[in-house]
Amino acid sequence: MNLNIQMVDTKSQFLKIKEEIYKGFEEVFESSQFINGKQVKEFTEALKSFTRAKHIIPCANGTDAIQVALMALGLEPGDEVIVPTWTYVATAEVIALLKLKPIFIDADYNTFNIDVNKIEEKITSKTKAIVPVHLYGQTCEMEKIMELAKKYNLFVVEDTAQAIGSEYTFSDGAVKQAGTIGNIGTTSFYPSKNLGAYGDGGAIYTNDDDLAVRLKGICHHGELGVKYYHDIVGCNSRLDTLQAVILNAKIKRLKDYETSRNEVADFYDNALKEMDWIETPFRSKNSTHVFHQYTMKIKNGQREALKTYLQEKEIPSMIYYPMPLHFQKAYAMHYNASYDLSISEKLSKEVLSLPIHTEMTESQLHYIVETIKNF
Ligand SMILES: *Cc1c(COP(=O)(O)O)cnc(C)c1O
Repeated sequence: MNLNIQMVDTKSQFLKIKEEIYKGFEEVFESSQFINGKQVKEFTEALKSFTRAKHIIPCANGTDAIQVALMALGLEPGDEVIVPTWTYVATAEVIALLKLKPIFIDADYNTFNIDVNKIEEKITSKTKAIVPVHLYGQTCEMEKIMELAKKYNLFVVEDTAQAIGSEYTFSDGAVKQAGTIGNIGTTSFYPSKNLGAYGDGGAIYTNDDDLAVRLKGICHHGELGVKYYHDIVGCNSRLDTLQAVILNAKIKRLKDYETSRNEVADFYDNALKEMDWIETPFRSKNSTHVFHQYTMKIKNGQREALKTYLQEKEIPSMIYYPMPLHFQKAYAMHYNASYDLSISEKLSKEVLSLPIHTEMTESQLHYIVETIKNF
């Protein structure tokens, strides 16, 4: 059976918006405004209205976005930054790169996000920031995180690379989008992300006017206003105009893309819920899910065997992630054996993500769940 199932099918999605993108590319080539062209400004405005953030600063990728965010906060080497151990490496990498100290916190077994009940015990006089990651498409318990940040005077930088569009509801009924709750939010337009470019891209969100000036300046070699006058040390991080063309075409469709992903997730949930050895993704009551990943827990110790079986049947699946960060060679020195990070260790043995994207067909979905049932 060749159903050409892929984890993410960017090609089929492209074919539906091809004309618009080619036309946009032509305009960029004709104008030769490859850097900071008008399409970048248009995208910045579109992302502003989509997220309801006061300021959007586009940049080169999602890793830079986190790095620039941390640079803007004026932290000192040795300052401690709280981060989940259950995340993609980029989040902790930039912390280490800036000579800050990552303090790893375990995951919540249900949501996969940072366990907010394990943060306070790790806060010291050196703690300066919390970097929650909205993993797989669901917002962390931001109400609790913001309470802790307020109590201990900490900055909050939200890594929203996997959760663009996820909406979080506070207990007073206020609704905010992931990335717009803390001091700064960051996201990635890596091709497989929910809003993916055809190359690298990223963005930084903030509602703070002063931080916006610093963030923008840091992305442009530390220029805070006047060209060729550099007030702080920055870097070079820009979203190029061609990528903005693609993002302009896709951001208009992002809500529809989110709906398609949720339909796939609902289908999997219904089909797999009766299988007692599979735990389908938990739906947090305070957050919508944008399903960057559909991540199950395989409870019978057969995760590897299931993955191999699916592979034989031409169904890809992925393990996000095979090893929590505190076990990685580059980060193990920041891990202290007194830390209890056992949930993340357990997750690394149980998680399996199924194909999920905007172009999945009924026959693909039926084939995937039937194959799993026959395992
Ligand atoms: C993809 C991702 C990043 C990094 O984004 P890039 O654009 O690839 O640099 C950071 N954090 C998380 C959680 C991600 O999934």
